Amino acid sequence: MVPESGDRLRIAETFHSIQGEGSLVGVPSFFIRTSGCNLRCEWCDTPYTSWEPEGDWWSIADLVAAVPPSARYVVVTGGEPLLWPNLPRLTAALQAASRHVTIETAGTVFQALPCDLMSISPKLANSAPDPQRGAAIGTDHARKRLDVGVLARLLDRYACQLKFVVGEPHDLVEIDELLGRLPPVAPDSILLMPLGTTKAAIAGRAPWIADLCKARGYRYTPRLHIDLYGDVRGT
Ligand code: SF4
Repeated sequence: MVPESGDRLRIAETFHSIQGEGSLVGVPSFFIRTSGCNLRCEWCDTPYTSWEPEGDWWSIADLVAAVPPSARYVVVTGGEPLLWPNLPRLTAALQAASRHVTIETAGTVFQALPCDLMSISPKLANSAPDPQRGAAIGTDHARKRLDVGVLARLLDRYACQLKFVVGEPHDLVEIDELLGRLPPVAPDSILLMPLGTTKAAIAGRAPWIADLCKARGYRYTPRLHIDLYGDVRGT
């Protein structure tokens, strides 16, 4: 957990965009990106929330007030939002303001809180930090990146989707092994997403990942925001 911080959270950015990933892809959404993460994925696309966290401190009231009237859907992402002890107060306030709340998490931390969709992205071995970053970072990431007990509790309590970032076909071996240790998850709540932050990288993986989805009954998820805006912060 990050330190208890009253009614304030450190926020890397807020923005109004289109949900680019998952079962709500295409839905206009307001994003609240908390700063700080317990993992250090090599391919992290928001290093300003993990490797070098940054951001201003916001009160819960100011965050709720920042949501535009037209934004019915709010996505609380990170970083790792579930690290924040006061997150339940934020999501309760958002729901009280009639917002649909999605939390995007790596699923290594449990909290009981108001939430309409728990979007869990368990981190596979392909997320391992480059060894040149130091053995301690790699060891810490490997120790924390998967917690089957926490994942099971999240799956039991919330409406969930499981979103896996897939880089190579053999990643399915690890996904199968993990799913075998978890409570049953409906195939269409298991999402495979191409690793990559460029249209070319995503397009290169899309065909064989789509084939895997067809074979398994899993859901393919694009990265629509990359198509729309590129790998641009605040989109
Ligand atoms: S869990 Fe998410 S925010 Fe944290 S390092 Fe990995 S990709 Fe980045």
